[in-house]
Amino acid sequence: MTTAATTSSAGSLRDLLAAGVRTFSFEFFPPRTEAGERTLWDAIRRIEAVGPTFVSVTYGAGGSSRDRTIAVTRRIATDTTLRPVAHLTAVDHSVAELRHIVGQYADAGIRDVLALRGDPPGDPRGPWTAHPDGLRHAYQLVELVRSAGDFSIGVAAFPERHPRSSDWDSDIRHFVAKCRAGADYAITQMFFDAEDYLRLRDRVAAAGCETPIIPEIMPAVHARQIQRFAELSDARFPRDLAEALEAARDDADTAHRIGVDHATALAERLLAEGAPGLHYITLNRSTATLDIHRNLTHRTERPAHARQHP
Ligand code: FAD
Repeated sequence: MTTAATTSSAGSLRDLLAAGVRTFSFEFFPPRTEAGERTLWDAIRRIEAVGPTFVSVTYGAGGSSRDRTIAVTRRIATDTTLRPVAHLTAVDHSVAELRHIVGQYADAGIRDVLALRGDPPGDPRGPWTAHPDGLRHAYQLVELVRSAGDFSIGVAAFPERHPRSSDWDSDIRHFVAKCRAGADYAITQMFFDAEDYLRLRDRVAAAGCETPIIPEIMPAVHARQIQRFAELSDARFPRDLAEALEAARDDADTAHRIGVDHATALAERLLAEGAPGLHYITLNRSTATLDIHRNLTHRTERPAHARQHP
């Protein structure tokens, strides 16, 4: 039986997901400082030890952050046993530049891209302006990557609807178009209520689309993260969790346990409902996400992530 835990030697991500292998993966961002670089690599090495299906590196809005994304992603490909998925956005790039970046990834042996439109730099909620020689929507980037070679391509999904979508019908229509343009899987925005994920999945299935949608898990382990999450996404934060974290504001261990327990329960429910895998946001730290991973592994007879769907 093929398991997801054999990482990059296990075939393409597209094939793994198509075979119903349950994936588990971790997301990092490119650090700005040398200390941040050390923290990141410490987390990468710890996570490498549990054999995830893939790890991904986010793509920033500006030049130097983008160079760091490319450098970290390439180093993961060359210096570790991990399968790196490169996030790529259309923001401020011409088609020629996007082709060049995809070519750089291919040259480094990277065959996995998460194709995103991205948000306007500076104010993510500001007006979106396409590069004059660039792309307007993620489905076009999917087409570009698909035409550039044999890549497994992921796209973004939004359990609480994309904030710029005026209604659910258009949101789902555009999501399905993105999948039909050549996406092999989707990863969701963070969310805290399993029902939001399940409703999205049902809507997509009702539109005749079977692209696997991997839920993103973001453990909230400090009261001060709540504000940060609101800045990062429009996800509704559960009131009971906010109150519990607030009550434990001066007790880091208790807050950590509360956040990990909440995320473990969410992840368990999603897997029980047949989610194709879990994608953990690490914020470049490994402790909370590995605690959730261990909880899930210990609560099942065999490692939860290593089982195929029936
Ligand atoms: P699109 O699919 O283009 O959708 C954007 C909006 O346009 C939606 O409202 C959609 O319904 C609408 N739309 C789509 N197609 C059409 C059409 N043909 N006509 C009219 N309207 C249309 N951002 C980063 O900058 N860097 C990252 O690394 C990053 N990683 C992410 C990872 C994940 C898992 C997720 C969920 C998001 C990530 N983002 C990242 C954020 C993402 O770039 C933004 O949320 C962006 O606003 C949406 O990108 P998209 O790829 O979904 O765009």
